[in-house]
Amino acid sequence: MKIALIAHDGKKADMVHFLIGFKDQLNHAEIELVATGTTGSHIERAGFKVQKLLSGPLGGDAQIASLAAQKELKMVIFFRDPLDKHPHEPDVQMLMRICDVHNIPLATNPAAANLMFQQLTKDFNGN
Ligand code: PGA
Repeated sequence: MKIALIAHDGKKADMVHFLIGFKDQLNHAEIELVATGTTGSHIERAGFKVQKLLSGPLGGDAQIASLAAQKELKMVIFFRDPLDKHPHEPDVQMLMRICDVHNIPLATNPAAANLMFQQLTKDFNGN
């Protein structure tokens, strides 16, 4: 099962902090992490195995949208920074639209991501 991870620059520390909180669950053999380039580097430095795609502004968000459209993603965690401008805003909108088109769970902040990961943990434990 693949989980896609993206964090805008102002949210990368939040992403790493969030993942560390679920480290045991994420070490589950069935879970594969895939991330945009710079987000992936941060995640890797925190000790996680992650497949790194292109950086977001260079097409990484579009690559993740492509995976979503092909139904290869279980969920997308995308910590957006609503207080900053992004040159690839059209790609950001496109990714969110594709998630909605294909009914793929999309969390855009830690509170929502927490709820989704808690459910994932329950699924693994058979609850
Ligand atoms: P990045 O891309 O992980 O390469 O910084 C994220 C984004 O801004 O979409």
